[in-house]
Order: sequence, then structure tokens, then C-alpha cells
Amino acid sequence: EAKRLGRNQYCFFIPAMQEAAQSRLRLSNDLRHAVTDGQFFLCYQPIVELASGRVRKAEALIRWSHPLRGIVSPSEFIPIAEETGLICQIGNWTFQQAAKQLLVWQASIDPGFQITINKSPVQFRNERDSHRDWRDQLQALNLAGNSIVIEITEGLLLEASGSVAEQLLAFRDAGIQVSLDDFGTGYSSLSYLKKFDIDYIKIDQSFVRNLAAGSDDMALCEAIIVMAHKLGIKVVAEGIETGKQRELLAAAGCDYGQGYLFARPLPAADFERLLAETAD
Ligand code: C2E
Ligand code: MG
Ligand code: MG
Ligand code: MG
Repeated sequence: EAKRLGRNQYCFFIPAMQEAAQSRLRLSNDLRHAVTDGQFFLCYQPIVELASGRVRKAEALIRWSHPLRGIVSPSEFIPIAEETGLICQIGNWTFQQAAKQLLVWQASIDPGFQITINKSPVQFRNERDSHRDWRDQLQALNLAGNSIVIEITEGLLLEASGSVAEQLLAFRDAGIQVSLDDFGTGYSSLSYLKKFDIDYIKIDQSFVRNLAAGSDDMALCEAIIVMAHKLGIKVVAEGIETGKQRELLAAAGCDYGQGYLFARPLPAADFERLLAETAD
């Protein structure tokens, strides 16, 4: 009896794994055509200055409109794009798209408007000269370097290779700012904040989710904000969903907030509509 049961479980397990592997394989094949077929689009999520309530920046978040599967979330396809190296092509498309959008929004919204772009560690590893491309493209569009903020994760700073440090410096030389995404979830060594001359820290949404006065998460947020400010770094809180979270973070001196309370990531046209509605 036990043997039969065991065999059944075994038989059940393997097809499930095969299916998952096949689904990944299919997605990675489809991903190859997605850039050239124009299946990607960007959504923009406002980043709000908490003291004034004004939208100062937007994070560009990629979406894949798959011909059969509908919208595929980046948490599903970005890891595949990283494994296959396609992330470089995708990342460059994202940058070009965001830069073109900036031209419009700097003219219509605010000449100081910034777009933040997520940049994968694989892009740093595989394309050591991308800072030149980005700088040249910004110049060709007559956009200031500091129109763009790149979002990196703590893991990248751990890569001991001198090349990452050099590239980050080169981006900074082009005026491009650097933001540390998902702060607090990686293996952060605080010394990296000094070493890499970071402009922004984004407090991960896991610290914001259960935020309450007097809680451990509140203490962590307060400590991050104080430390960041002493180092001349601005702080963005991610995942703000309630007015209470916004209030607590603003009272703690947090500079910017991002989250569903303000808006979900929106296609460009909807983002513009939102800004027009909330303009003073
Ligand atoms: P991320 O950079 O940390 O982006 C924030 C994620 O949190 C986004 O998920 C956003 O939709 C979500 N979010 C924003 N506000 C809230 C909120 O109030 N509550 C909750 N529960 N979630 C909120 P999304 O768009 O699914 O992106 C997931 C991740 O995929 C991003 O995390 C980023 O790491 C990656 N990603 C997205 N676009 C790109 C891209 O163009 N390039 C690269 N390399 N990675 C990207
Ligand atoms: Mg991000
Ligand atoms: Mg994040
Ligand atoms: Mg992330």
C-alpha cells in the first residue's frame, strides 16, 4: 500500500515539474520575439513628495502583453530574461521608451521631472559600456543626465568586481542618479552607502505593510530615514497603501512615497490624466 502511494506521489510530482519547465521554455521562446514584435509597454507609477503632495517622479515598470496569455507580470518574465540575457535588449528598449516619454513630460508637467528605471545586475555584467549609450542618447534628445534615476538592488553592490563600481561612477559622471531599491531585504552593508554615493534609498514595502506607531517596523523606518539624511541620501517609501502609513512616514521625515494609495502603475495616457486631475 505504502509503495503504491509512494509511486503515485512520484508520478504526480514529475509531470508538474515538467510542466513548469515547459512553460518557462515556451515563455523564453516567446520572449525572444516580444521586443521586435512590440509586445512590451511601460506603466508609470507616481512618486510623490510627501511634504507637498506633488508628483515629482515616476517609476517605469515594464509590462508584457503576450498574444495568448495576456499581461504577464515582470516578476514572472524578468528572471527568464535575466537567465537568457534578453534583459539587455529589453532594458535598452525600456530606457529609450522612458527617455522619449520624459521629453514630453518635462515640457508639459515639470522641467525637473524624473523617471526611475530598474536596471538588472545582468545588464551591468553583460554590457559594461551601457553608460556611454545612455549618455549619448540623452544628449541626442537634449535631456539632462539627472532626468534619469537608475534603480539597483543591494545584491549588485555586493559584487566585488571593480567593474560595477566603475560603471556606477560613469553613470554618475553622466549626471544619472542612483537609487537603492528594496532596501533592507538584501545583504546590505551600510558601508556601501558611503562607498557608492547613492542618491536615494527605497524602503522596501515589507517594512511599510504593517507600519504602526511604536512598532518595530516604525523604528526601522525612522532609523533608515535618519541615517540616510545624515549621509545626504533622500528616502522613498514603497508600497504605501493607506493614509495612516503615509502620515507616519511623513511625520518621520520620509521624503517621497510610492504606492497604491497614490496610484497603481498606469499606462502613459492614464498617468497624464491622473496628473491633470490632481494638478493644483
Ligand atoms: P520594484 O522595482 O520593487 O517595483 C515595485 C513593485 O511594487 C511593482 O511591481 C509595483 O507595481 C508594486 N507596487 C507598487 N505600489 C504597491 C503597493 O502599494 N502595494 C503593493 N502590494 N505593491 C505595490 P511590478 O510592476 O509587478 O514589478 C515587480 C518587479 O519587477 C519590480 O520591483 C522590479 O524589480 C521588476 N521590474 C519591473 N519593471 C522592470 C524593468 O523595466 N526592468 C527590470 N530589470 N526590472 C523590472
Ligand atoms: Mg524599482
Ligand atoms: Mg522595490
Ligand atoms: Mg525589486
